[in-house]
Amino acid sequence: MYENSKLLFDRAQQSIPGGVNSPVRAFKSVGGTPLFIKKAQGAYLYDADGNQYIDYIASWGPMILGHAYEPVVNAIREKALDSTSYGAPTELEIEMAELIRTMAPNIDLVRMVSSGTEACMSALRLARGYTGRNKFIKFEGCYHGHADAFLVKAGSGLATFNIQTVPGITGGVSNDTLTCAYNDLPAVEKLVAENPDQIAAIIIEPVAGNMGCILPQPGFIEGLRRICDDHSIVLIFDEVMTGFRLSPGGAQQTLGVAADLVTYGKVIGGGMPVGAFGGKRAIMEKIAPLGNVYQAGTLSGNPIAMIAGYTMLKELKNKPAIYTELEQKTAYLHAGLEKVLRASGTPYTINRMGSMISVHFSDRPVTDFATAAGANNELFKKYFHAMLKRGVYLPPSAFESWFLNNALSYDDLDRTISATAESLKEVLSS
Ligand SMILES: *Cc1c(COP(=O)(O)O)cnc(C)c1O
Repeated sequence: MYENSKLLFDRAQQSIPGGVNSPVRAFKSVGGTPLFIKKAQGAYLYDADGNQYIDYIASWGPMILGHAYEPVVNAIREKALDSTSYGAPTELEIEMAELIRTMAPNIDLVRMVSSGTEACMSALRLARGYTGRNKFIKFEGCYHGHADAFLVKAGSGLATFNIQTVPGITGGVSNDTLTCAYNDLPAVEKLVAENPDQIAAIIIEPVAGNMGCILPQPGFIEGLRRICDDHSIVLIFDEVMTGFRLSPGGAQQTLGVAADLVTYGKVIGGGMPVGAFGGKRAIMEKIAPLGNVYQAGTLSGNPIAMIAGYTMLKELKNKPAIYTELEQKTAYLHAGLEKVLRASGTPYTINRMGSMISVHFSDRPVTDFATAAGANNELFKKYFHAMLKRGVYLPPSAFESWFLNNALSYDDLDRTISATAESLKEVLSS
Protein backbone atom coordinates (compact mmCIF):
# COMPACT_ATOMS: atom_id res chain seq x y z
CA MET A 1 0.00 0.00 0.00
CA TYR A 2 2.91 2.37 0.78
CA GLU A 3 5.59 0.86 -1.50
CA ASN A 4 6.54 4.03 -3.36
CA SER A 5 6.55 6.08 -0.18
CA LYS A 6 8.89 3.52 1.38
CA LEU A 7 11.27 3.72 -1.58
CA LEU A 8 11.19 7.51 -1.50
CA PHE A 9 11.77 7.57 2.24
CA ASP A 10 14.83 5.33 1.89
CA ARG A 11 16.16 7.56 -0.87
CA ALA A 12 15.35 10.77 1.04
CA GLN A 13 17.39 9.63 4.02
CA GLN A 14 20.52 9.49 1.85
CA SER A 15 20.52 13.25 1.37
CA ILE A 16 18.09 14.84 3.84
CA PRO A 17 18.49 14.50 7.63
CA GLY A 18 15.92 11.90 8.65
CA GLY A 19 14.47 12.13 5.16
CA VAL A 20 12.39 15.21 5.99
CA ASN A 21 12.69 18.98 6.08
CA SER A 22 10.64 19.34 9.28
CA PRO A 23 10.76 16.70 12.04
CA VAL A 24 7.09 15.88 12.71
CA ARG A 25 6.69 14.81 9.09
CA ALA A 26 8.91 11.79 9.75
CA PHE A 27 6.08 9.91 11.56
CA LYS A 28 8.54 9.10 14.33
CA SER A 29 6.01 9.42 17.11
CA VAL A 30 3.47 7.20 15.41
CA GLY A 31 5.98 4.91 13.70
CA GLY A 32 5.84 3.66 10.14
CA THR A 33 6.76 5.30 6.87
CA PRO A 34 5.85 8.91 6.20
CA LEU A 35 3.69 9.30 3.15
CA PHE A 36 5.22 11.13 0.25
CA ILE A 37 2.59 13.37 -1.23
CA LYS A 38 2.25 13.80 -4.93
CA LYS A 39 -0.60 16.23 -5.12
CA ALA A 40 -3.67 17.49 -3.34
CA GLN A 41 -7.03 18.80 -4.41
CA GLY A 42 -9.80 20.16 -2.23
CA ALA A 43 -10.03 18.05 0.92
CA TYR A 44 -7.89 15.21 -0.43
CA LEU A 45 -4.24 14.30 -0.45
CA TYR A 46 -2.80 11.80 -2.93
CA ASP A 47 0.39 9.94 -2.06
CA ALA A 48 3.13 8.51 -4.26
CA ASP A 49 1.26 5.18 -4.38
CA GLY A 50 -1.90 6.80 -5.65
CA ASN A 51 -3.79 6.43 -2.35
CA GLN A 52 -6.33 9.11 -1.55
CA TYR A 53 -6.73 10.56 1.95
CA ILE A 54 -9.15 12.93 3.60
CA ASP A 55 -6.79 15.60 4.91
CA TYR A 56 -7.03 16.88 8.49
CA ILE A 57 -3.67 18.63 8.50
CA ALA A 58 -4.30 21.22 5.79
CA SER A 59 -0.53 21.82 5.64
CA TRP A 60 -0.79 22.46 9.43
CA GLY A 61 -3.41 25.11 8.88
CA PRO A 62 -2.87 27.22 5.77
CA MET A 63 -5.15 25.31 3.38
CA ILE A 64 -8.28 26.46 5.17
CA LEU A 65 -10.23 26.58 1.90
CA GLY A 66 -8.91 23.26 0.64
CA HIS A 67 -5.97 22.40 -1.59
CA ALA A 68 -5.27 23.96 -4.97
CA TYR A 69 -7.94 26.56 -4.27
CA GLU A 70 -8.54 27.99 -7.69
CA PRO A 71 -8.46 31.76 -7.04
CA VAL A 72 -5.15 31.39 -5.17
CA VAL A 73 -3.59 29.13 -7.79
CA ASN A 74 -4.62 31.45 -10.61
CA ALA A 75 -3.32 34.53 -8.80
CA ILE A 76 0.07 32.90 -8.25
CA ARG A 77 0.26 31.78 -11.84
CA GLU A 78 -0.48 35.23 -13.18
CA LYS A 79 1.84 37.05 -10.77
CA ALA A 80 4.80 34.79 -11.57
CA LEU A 81 4.89 36.16 -15.11
CA ASP A 82 5.96 39.55 -13.67
CA SER A 83 9.03 37.98 -11.99
CA THR A 84 9.08 36.21 -8.66
CA SER A 85 11.02 38.74 -6.58
CA TYR A 86 12.34 42.32 -6.75
CA GLY A 87 13.83 43.18 -3.36
CA ALA A 88 12.09 46.55 -3.60
CA PRO A 89 8.71 47.74 -2.33
CA THR A 90 5.49 47.02 -4.22
CA GLU A 91 1.92 48.30 -4.04
CA LEU A 92 0.78 44.75 -3.31
CA GLU A 93 2.54 44.90 0.06
CA ILE A 94 0.52 47.98 0.98
CA GLU A 95 -2.68 46.24 -0.08
CA MET A 96 -1.76 43.22 2.02
CA ALA A 97 -1.03 45.36 5.10
CA GLU A 98 -4.25 47.33 4.61
CA LEU A 99 -6.26 44.15 4.25
CA ILE A 100 -4.75 42.69 7.42
CA ARG A 101 -5.62 45.88 9.29
CA THR A 102 -9.24 45.71 8.17
CA MET A 103 -9.54 42.11 9.33
CA ALA A 104 -7.52 41.91 12.55
CA PRO A 105 -8.12 44.21 15.52
CA ASN A 106 -5.30 46.27 17.09
CA ILE A 107 -2.96 46.21 14.14
CA ASP A 108 -1.68 49.74 13.56
CA LEU A 109 1.43 48.64 11.73
CA VAL A 110 2.37 45.25 10.35
CA ARG A 111 5.65 43.83 9.02
CA MET A 112 5.73 40.83 6.69
CA VAL A 113 8.26 38.04 7.15
CA SER A 114 8.64 34.55 5.66
CA SER A 115 7.62 32.20 8.48
CA GLY A 116 5.86 31.97 11.81
CA THR A 117 9.23 31.41 13.47
CA GLU A 118 10.54 34.70 12.14
CA ALA A 119 7.37 36.49 13.19
CA CYS A 120 7.63 35.26 16.79
CA MET A 121 11.35 35.82 17.21
CA SER A 122 11.04 39.33 15.78
CA ALA A 123 8.07 40.16 18.01
CA LEU A 124 10.03 39.01 21.06
CA ARG A 125 13.09 41.05 20.05
CA LEU A 126 10.85 44.04 19.55
CA ALA A 127 9.19 43.61 22.96
CA ARG A 128 12.64 43.42 24.54
CA GLY A 129 13.84 46.46 22.66
CA TYR A 130 10.73 48.40 23.55
CA THR A 131 10.77 47.59 27.26
CA GLY A 132 14.51 47.35 27.77
CA ARG A 133 13.95 44.08 29.63
CA ASN A 134 15.33 40.61 28.83
CA LYS A 135 13.08 37.95 30.32
CA PHE A 136 9.80 36.69 28.96
CA ILE A 137 7.16 34.16 29.92
CA LYS A 138 5.92 31.37 27.70
CA PHE A 139 3.67 28.43 28.48
CA GLU A 140 4.60 24.76 28.62
CA GLY A 141 3.48 23.02 25.47
CA CYS A 142 3.14 26.21 23.42
CA TYR A 143 5.23 26.35 20.28
CA HIS A 144 6.42 29.64 18.88
CA GLY A 145 8.71 28.41 16.14
CA HIS A 146 12.28 27.20 16.45
CA ALA A 147 14.13 30.38 17.46
CA ASP A 148 16.49 29.66 20.37
CA ALA A 149 14.62 31.52 23.08
CA PHE A 150 11.41 29.58 22.49
CA LEU A 151 12.81 26.05 22.56
CA VAL A 152 12.06 25.53 26.22
CA LYS A 153 9.10 23.23 26.97
CA ALA A 154 7.96 23.91 23.46
CA GLY A 155 5.23 21.34 22.78
CA SER A 156 4.51 19.77 19.44
CA GLY A 157 7.59 18.50 17.63
CA LEU A 158 9.73 18.54 20.77
CA ALA A 159 7.03 16.79 22.79
CA THR A 160 6.63 14.30 19.98
CA PHE A 161 10.32 13.44 20.19
CA ASN A 162 10.49 13.83 23.96
CA ILE A 163 13.23 16.43 23.63
CA GLN A 164 13.70 18.11 27.03
CA THR A 165 16.69 20.35 26.49
CA VAL A 166 17.94 21.35 23.11
CA PRO A 167 21.67 21.13 22.44
CA GLY A 168 22.95 24.24 20.71
CA ILE A 169 20.99 26.63 22.86
CA THR A 170 23.08 28.42 25.44
CA GLY A 171 22.16 28.64 29.11
CA GLY A 172 22.24 32.41 28.79
CA VAL A 173 19.45 32.29 26.26
CA SER A 174 17.23 29.78 28.00
CA ASN A 175 17.70 31.45 31.40
CA ASP A 176 15.68 34.37 30.12
CA THR A 177 12.81 32.06 29.14
CA LEU A 178 10.44 31.61 32.07
CA THR A 179 7.71 29.00 31.77
CA CYS A 180 4.36 28.31 33.40
CA ALA A 181 1.66 25.72 32.88
CA TYR A 182 -1.04 26.79 30.42
CA ASN A 183 -4.16 28.06 32.18
CA ASP A 184 -2.25 28.63 35.44
CA LEU A 185 -2.75 32.32 36.19
CA PRO A 186 -1.43 32.21 39.79
CA ALA A 187 1.86 30.77 38.46
CA VAL A 188 2.16 33.72 36.08
CA GLU A 189 1.48 36.16 38.91
CA LYS A 190 4.17 34.48 40.98
CA LEU A 191 6.78 34.68 38.19
CA VAL A 192 5.99 38.32 37.61
CA ALA A 193 6.33 39.07 41.32
CA GLU A 194 9.64 37.19 41.50
CA ASN A 195 11.08 39.09 38.53
CA PRO A 196 10.06 42.70 39.10
CA ASP A 197 10.62 45.02 36.13
CA GLN A 198 12.48 42.27 34.29
CA ILE A 199 9.81 40.74 32.11
CA ALA A 200 9.54 42.15 28.60
CA ALA A 201 6.72 39.99 27.30
CA ILE A 202 4.24 37.24 27.85
CA ILE A 203 3.78 35.22 24.68
CA ILE A 204 0.95 32.74 24.30
CA GLU A 205 -1.03 30.75 21.79
CA PRO A 206 -4.41 32.20 22.82
CA VAL A 207 -5.94 28.88 21.80
CA ALA A 208 -3.13 26.35 21.95
CA GLY A 209 -2.66 24.02 19.02
CA ASN A 210 0.72 22.44 19.64
CA MET A 211 -0.23 20.02 22.41
CA GLY A 212 -3.42 19.01 20.71
CA CYS A 213 -6.05 21.70 20.80
CA ILE A 214 -6.24 23.29 24.24
CA LEU A 215 -8.67 26.01 25.15
CA PRO A 216 -7.97 28.90 27.49
CA GLN A 217 -10.14 28.61 30.56
CA PRO A 218 -12.54 31.48 31.25
CA GLY A 219 -10.64 34.43 32.67
CA PHE A 220 -7.16 33.14 31.84
CA ILE A 221 -6.42 35.32 28.84
CA GLU A 222 -8.20 38.28 30.47
CA GLY A 223 -5.98 37.70 33.51
CA LEU A 224 -2.85 37.84 31.37
CA ARG A 225 -4.07 41.10 29.84
CA ARG A 226 -4.52 42.57 33.31
CA ILE A 227 -1.08 41.41 34.52
CA CYS A 228 0.56 42.88 31.43
CA ASP A 229 -1.24 46.19 31.95
CA ASP A 230 -0.29 46.31 35.62
CA HIS A 231 3.39 45.61 34.98
CA SER A 232 3.99 47.25 31.59
CA ILE A 233 4.64 43.85 30.00
CA VAL A 234 4.02 43.42 26.28
CA LEU A 235 1.31 40.83 25.66
CA ILE A 236 2.07 38.89 22.48
CA PHE A 237 -0.57 36.65 20.96
CA ASP A 238 1.01 34.02 18.77
CA GLU A 239 -1.79 33.71 16.23
CA VAL A 240 0.25 31.71 13.73
CA MET A 241 -2.39 28.98 14.02
CA THR A 242 -5.45 30.90 15.14
CA GLY A 243 -5.04 34.00 12.95
CA PHE A 244 -7.64 34.15 10.16
CA ARG A 245 -8.72 30.63 11.18
CA LEU A 246 -10.88 31.10 14.26
CA SER A 247 -12.44 34.21 12.75
CA PRO A 248 -11.36 37.00 10.40
CA GLY A 249 -9.82 38.73 13.43
CA GLY A 250 -8.39 35.54 14.88
CA ALA A 251 -8.31 34.78 18.60
CA GLN A 252 -8.29 38.47 19.50
CA GLN A 253 -11.76 38.73 17.98
CA THR A 254 -13.02 35.32 19.05
CA LEU A 255 -11.91 35.72 22.67
CA GLY A 256 -12.51 39.46 22.82
CA VAL A 257 -9.09 40.26 24.25
CA ALA A 258 -6.65 42.70 22.69
CA ALA A 259 -2.95 41.90 22.47
CA ASP A 260 -0.13 44.45 22.17
CA LEU A 261 1.65 42.50 19.46
CA VAL A 262 0.32 39.69 17.31
CA THR A 263 2.18 37.19 15.17
CA TYR A 264 0.79 35.45 12.12
CA GLY A 265 1.79 32.63 9.80
CA LYS A 266 0.12 29.65 8.15
CA VAL A 267 -3.26 30.91 6.79
CA ILE A 268 -1.82 34.38 6.09
CA GLY A 269 0.31 32.95 3.28
CA GLY A 270 -2.33 30.85 1.56
CA GLY A 271 0.21 28.01 1.42
CA MET A 272 3.26 30.14 0.60
CA PRO A 273 6.02 30.85 3.15
CA VAL A 274 4.64 33.93 4.90
CA GLY A 275 4.53 35.29 8.42
CA ALA A 276 3.80 38.68 9.90
CA PHE A 277 3.96 40.55 13.15
CA GLY A 278 2.10 43.69 14.00
CA GLY A 279 0.38 45.64 16.69
CA LYS A 280 0.36 48.92 18.52
CA ARG A 281 1.99 51.82 16.78
CA ALA A 282 4.09 52.89 19.76
CA ILE A 283 5.74 49.47 19.88
CA MET A 284 5.95 48.81 16.15
CA GLU A 285 7.66 52.18 15.62
CA LYS A 286 10.72 50.80 17.38
CA ILE A 287 11.41 48.48 14.46
CA ALA A 288 13.99 49.49 11.81
CA PRO A 289 14.01 51.71 9.77
CA LEU A 290 11.79 53.78 12.11
CA GLY A 291 13.54 52.60 15.26
CA ASN A 292 16.71 50.78 16.17
CA VAL A 293 15.37 47.27 16.76
CA TYR A 294 16.73 45.55 13.68
CA GLN A 295 14.75 43.14 11.57
CA ALA A 296 14.93 42.43 7.85
CA GLY A 297 14.32 39.84 5.12
CA THR A 298 15.48 39.48 1.53
CA LEU A 299 12.27 37.71 0.50
CA SER A 300 9.94 39.46 2.96
CA GLY A 301 6.84 40.70 1.18
CA ASN A 302 7.74 38.55 -1.82
CA PRO A 303 5.18 39.16 -4.59
CA ILE A 304 4.21 35.51 -5.11
CA ALA A 305 3.82 34.96 -1.37
CA MET A 306 1.86 38.20 -1.04
CA ILE A 307 -0.55 37.50 -3.88
CA ALA A 308 -1.27 34.02 -2.48
CA GLY A 309 -1.90 35.36 1.02
CA TYR A 310 -3.79 38.40 -0.20
CA THR A 311 -6.11 36.32 -2.37
CA MET A 312 -6.77 33.90 0.47
CA LEU A 313 -7.47 36.61 3.04
CA LYS A 314 -9.68 38.47 0.62
CA GLU A 315 -11.80 35.33 0.14
CA LEU A 316 -12.07 34.90 3.89
CA LYS A 317 -13.03 38.53 4.37
CA ASN A 318 -15.59 38.62 1.56
CA LYS A 319 -17.22 35.33 2.47
CA PRO A 320 -17.70 35.32 6.25
CA ALA A 321 -20.07 32.36 5.85
CA ILE A 322 -16.91 30.26 5.48
CA TYR A 323 -16.33 30.57 9.23
CA THR A 324 -19.88 29.48 10.05
CA GLU A 325 -19.57 26.55 7.66
CA LEU A 326 -16.25 25.49 9.13
CA GLU A 327 -17.61 25.79 12.65
CA GLN A 328 -20.67 23.71 11.77
CA LYS A 329 -18.60 21.04 10.08
CA THR A 330 -16.26 20.81 13.02
CA ALA A 331 -19.17 20.63 15.45
CA TYR A 332 -20.68 17.87 13.31
CA LEU A 333 -17.41 15.94 13.36
CA HIS A 334 -17.15 16.52 17.11
CA ALA A 335 -20.63 15.10 17.72
CA GLY A 336 -19.99 12.11 15.48
CA LEU A 337 -16.63 11.29 17.07
CA GLU A 338 -18.15 11.73 20.51
CA LYS A 339 -20.80 9.16 19.69
CA VAL A 340 -18.43 6.47 18.44
CA LEU A 341 -15.86 7.12 21.15
CA ARG A 342 -18.50 6.83 23.84
CA ALA A 343 -19.75 3.59 22.29
CA SER A 344 -16.18 2.20 22.23
CA GLY A 345 -15.89 2.50 26.00
CA THR A 346 -12.38 3.95 25.83
CA PRO A 347 -11.71 7.11 27.86
CA TYR A 348 -11.48 10.21 25.70
CA THR A 349 -11.57 14.00 25.75
CA ILE A 350 -12.38 16.07 22.69
CA ASN A 351 -11.30 19.72 22.65
CA ARG A 352 -12.55 22.05 19.98
CA MET A 353 -12.70 25.69 19.05
CA GLY A 354 -13.82 26.85 15.63
CA SER A 355 -12.18 24.58 13.08
CA MET A 356 -9.50 23.28 15.46
CA ILE A 357 -10.22 20.00 17.19
CA SER A 358 -8.30 17.20 18.87
CA VAL A 359 -9.01 13.83 20.41
CA HIS A 360 -7.09 12.84 23.52
CA PHE A 361 -7.44 9.35 24.91
CA SER A 362 -7.74 10.68 28.42
CA ASP A 363 -10.28 10.27 31.18
CA ARG A 364 -9.66 13.77 32.52
CA PRO A 365 -10.05 17.19 31.00
CA VAL A 366 -7.03 18.17 28.89
CA THR A 367 -6.20 21.74 29.86
CA ASP A 368 -2.41 21.96 29.72
CA PHE A 369 0.70 20.11 28.62
CA ALA A 370 0.77 17.76 31.61
CA THR A 371 -2.76 16.53 31.01
CA ALA A 372 -2.10 16.23 27.26
CA ALA A 373 1.03 14.20 27.93
CA GLY A 374 -0.87 12.07 30.44
CA ALA A 375 -3.27 10.77 27.80
CA ASN A 376 -2.91 7.31 26.28
CA ASN A 377 -0.67 8.31 23.41
CA GLU A 378 0.19 4.67 22.62
CA LEU A 379 -3.45 4.23 21.70
CA PHE A 380 -3.29 7.36 19.57
CA LYS A 381 -0.49 5.79 17.48
CA LYS A 382 -2.59 2.73 16.74
CA TYR A 383 -5.64 4.85 16.03
CA PHE A 384 -3.59 7.04 13.67
CA HIS A 385 -2.47 4.07 11.59
CA ALA A 386 -5.88 2.47 11.57
CA MET A 387 -7.31 5.74 10.25
CA LEU A 388 -4.56 6.12 7.66
CA LYS A 389 -5.31 2.64 6.37
CA ARG A 390 -8.93 3.77 5.94
CA GLY A 391 -7.95 6.85 3.97
CA VAL A 392 -8.00 9.48 6.72
CA TYR A 393 -4.84 11.49 7.25
CA LEU A 394 -4.67 12.82 10.82
CA PRO A 395 -1.71 14.76 12.22
CA PRO A 396 0.96 12.13 12.99
CA SER A 397 1.22 13.05 16.68
CA ALA A 398 -1.13 13.25 19.63
CA PHE A 399 0.36 16.69 20.31
CA GLU A 400 -1.12 18.34 17.25
CA SER A 401 -4.47 19.89 16.57
CA TRP A 402 -6.51 18.72 13.61
CA PHE A 403 -7.36 21.48 11.15
CA LEU A 404 -10.54 21.37 9.12
CA ASN A 405 -10.70 22.89 5.68
CA ASN A 406 -13.85 24.10 4.03
CA ALA A 407 -13.54 21.74 1.07
CA LEU A 408 -14.53 18.89 3.41
CA SER A 409 -18.00 17.62 2.63
CA TYR A 410 -20.44 16.11 5.11
CA ASP A 411 -19.82 12.84 3.32
CA ASP A 412 -16.10 13.17 4.14
CA LEU A 413 -16.99 13.84 7.77
CA ASP A 414 -19.30 10.81 7.86
CA ARG A 415 -16.54 8.67 6.38
CA THR A 416 -14.16 9.97 9.06
CA ILE A 417 -16.63 9.14 11.81
CA SER A 418 -17.28 5.63 10.55
CA ALA A 419 -13.52 5.10 10.02
CA THR A 420 -13.08 6.08 13.66
CA ALA A 421 -15.69 3.54 14.75
CA GLU A 422 -13.96 0.79 12.75
CA SER A 423 -10.49 1.87 13.81
CA LEU A 424 -11.39 1.89 17.48
CA LYS A 425 -12.91 -1.56 17.13
CA GLU A 426 -9.70 -2.78 15.50
CA VAL A 427 -7.19 -1.20 17.89
CA LEU A 428 -9.09 -1.82 21.11
CA SER A 429 -9.48 -5.52 20.38
CA SER A 430 -5.81 -6.01 19.44
C1 LIG B 1 3.61 26.72 13.21
C2 LIG B 1 3.73 27.64 14.36
C3 LIG B 1 4.83 28.53 14.49
C4 LIG B 1 6.00 28.48 13.57
O1 LIG B 1 5.68 28.81 12.27
P1 LIG B 1 6.65 28.33 11.08
O2 LIG B 1 6.05 28.97 9.87
O3 LIG B 1 6.62 26.85 11.08
O4 LIG B 1 8.00 28.86 11.37
C5 LIG B 1 4.79 29.45 15.52
N1 LIG B 1 3.76 29.49 16.37
C6 LIG B 1 2.71 28.66 16.28
C7 LIG B 1 1.58 28.79 17.25
C8 LIG B 1 2.68 27.69 15.29
O5 LIG B 1 1.65 26.85 15.25
